[in-house]
Amino acid sequence: MNPAPAPDRRRISILGATGSIGRNTLDVMSHLGGRDAFEVPAITGMGNIGLLVEQARQTGAGFAVTADPDRYNELKSALAGTGTQAGAGPTALVEAGERDTDLVMAGIVGIAGLAPTLAAIARGADIALANKECLVSAGDLFTAAMAKSGGKLLPVDSEHNAIFQVLEENQRHAVERIILTASGGPFRDHTLDQMAAVTPERAAAHPNWSMGLKISIDSASMFNKALEMIEARHLFGMRPEQIEVIIHPQSIIHSMVGYSDGSVLAQLGVPDMRHAIGYAICHPRRASLPVERLDLAALARLDFIAPDETRFPALALARTAMRRGGLQGAVLNGAKEIALEAFIAGQTGFLDMADIVAATMDRLDDGRAAATIEDVYAADREARAVASSLLRKSA
Ligand code: NDP
Ligand code: MG
Repeated sequence: MNPAPAPDRRRISILGATGSIGRNTLDVMSHLGGRDAFEVPAITGMGNIGLLVEQARQTGAGFAVTADPDRYNELKSALAGTGTQAGAGPTALVEAGERDTDLVMAGIVGIAGLAPTLAAIARGADIALANKECLVSAGDLFTAAMAKSGGKLLPVDSEHNAIFQVLEENQRHAVERIILTASGGPFRDHTLDQMAAVTPERAAAHPNWSMGLKISIDSASMFNKALEMIEARHLFGMRPEQIEVIIHPQSIIHSMVGYSDGSVLAQLGVPDMRHAIGYAICHPRRASLPVERLDLAALARLDFIAPDETRFPALALARTAMRRGGLQGAVLNGAKEIALEAFIAGQTGFLDMADIVAATMDRLDDGRAAATIEDVYAADREARAVASSLLRKSA
């Protein structure tokens, strides 16, 4: 017989439970006491129904949702007898975000995570945010909603989690710059000619981090770092010129904050997302986490290289998007998604992705800002349409 659950279990819902972030979150929760320590009001996934059902059984989740409306019956019958309610489609996804909880892990990939995460914010939950596209596409709306709700926003992206750890709350006025580290990905030392010929399989093989497919390829093109620059701007209220990127191949320093007295504070650790996830879900407490400890002597050295923006034009595009403001973040992200999907499908080259994004951003640079979430969705749709037509023309 299972022991009776402790009455003060922490409630954590997981959006995108079946993904890389979601699975790592459940792994950390299981290490920190599993069902004795945590209640799981809701979990969501999309295509991986088998895993979603297994996770529902393991956690005793109250509500399990697939984002795919056509798979409701399959999910419902697989959950029969478990006590977990089934849901499917966009409305159920939002309902999952709204379920009463202490914290929501926002681990959906892409702009699909925006509506359920905003729903969770509106209910006053603390948000552990991995889903960077929320901030890139709708940063102003997102931070305004967060300020209104009074909940805590805890960055899960490892760079932003690092900055959050070393950003001294009473010294924010003295922050001069934020230095985001980047591994440089698998093509760090490739020439432009070599990069023009790479395949999606090669691009997906990240040297240090084990992540989902899209983010791995975005790391290789440094579009991931571009998104992270915009993410940092919104999370920490930085001006574009305060955000720097440095290539650090070992991925041991996860990012740094430079202060006006010349001090630079860094957070170090082995590259393992369970660290940032554990920090975010346990904050302000530091828990004992199942991550490998740093062996500095074995490591011996840490390297730093200035990024080459000719080979990695995504970084300059992020700066352009930040300078232009308004809906350019949503446009950059929407166009990047189309270019990325075309690259994965073998329809466009690795280096063409940045050209498509740049041309789409220029075409849709009309100074508009987002008054509502609908404006963000419209900009996303427009960017996808423009990027798709550019792709067709170049085919
Ligand atoms: P994955 O692709 O591994 O997982 C994505 C999750 O979202 C899965 O649960 C997937 O369901 C679900 N999903 C996919 N499409 C949709 C959709 N249209 N609507 C609703 N749910 C959907 O991604 P990651 O876990 O790698 O990344 C998640 C987010 O975290 C991204 O924004 C990424 O940039 C960010 N991040 C990830 C890191 C990592 O280490 N992985 C590091 C830092 C940030 P299913 O699998 O069932 O189809
Ligand atoms: Mg990151």
